[in-house]
Amino acid sequence: MIKFGSSGFCYGFMKKHKSSSEMPTWLKRHKLSCHEMSFTNGVRITNETCEKFGKLFKKANIELSVHAPYFINFASPNPIAIEKSNMYIIASLQKMKYLGAKKLVFHVGTLLGKPRDEAFSRTYENIKNLLSILDEYDFDEYYLCPETMGKHGQIGTIEEIAKICALDERLMPTIDFGHINAFGGGCLKSEEDYENVFETLKKYLGDRFNKIHIHFSKIQYGAKGEIRHLTFKDNIYGPEFEPLAKVLKKYNVEACVISESSGTQTKDAVAMQKIYNNLN
Ligand SMILES: [Zn+2]
Repeated sequence: MIKFGSSGFCYGFMKKHKSSSEMPTWLKRHKLSCHEMSFTNGVRITNETCEKFGKLFKKANIELSVHAPYFINFASPNPIAIEKSNMYIIASLQKMKYLGAKKLVFHVGTLLGKPRDEAFSRTYENIKNLLSILDEYDFDEYYLCPETMGKHGQIGTIEEIAKICALDERLMPTIDFGHINAFGGGCLKSEEDYENVFETLKKYLGDRFNKIHIHFSKIQYGAKGEIRHLTFKDNIYGPEFEPLAKVLKKYNVEACVISESSGTQTKDAVAMQKIYNNLN
């Protein structure tokens, strides 16, 4: 099953609303069924507030996911940075128990000027170690969802994310198609381009290749990849959702498709849902 929804607060929502407690009714009114809450600048929300939001989202039948803080960097050579990254993951998961969210999206790391293969193997080992730390906790039913990234200085190509996710069934890829397109200088155009993403996932993940989390937005890019998120009004950078919609159906993909458009998340999520539902 595919669900469509938004990330954060869009302009339309902010015009009349202020709090996440009003988000479930807003999404329901737009016939959307998932939402991503951002802990991107730190995990500061109280357990009580999480519990309150969780109940409201559950009542409205909106599936919640969480985006972990941006400070995480499993590619860092500094052991303190790794310890902090582990803590950000654990702190997010603890809040998710109260929110009733099951998927935690995170950025795995940045190269910090180091060679890519060196930074990747560090990332891989540190995430493997994180999993053994999580064994000590009661987080078995939660998914860690490492994201494909848009800047050349970040870890997170499709292949890298697929290799990481192959480590354990608690890992589920977040495929950000805008990021993939920006990283590859506009590499996603045809249905075949999108199919190649799923073929790579299939190679590493076997049967579970089509159970993923999705971010979608058009993104401006330059020589080093991603520059900034755009809206569906853009017709220069892409990528376009239409060919992806067909591929999602063809591969029987189960996912929440989260719009990360710049300010028009709800509107663009509604547009994607319409395109998908109109397929035969
Ligand atoms: Zn992200």
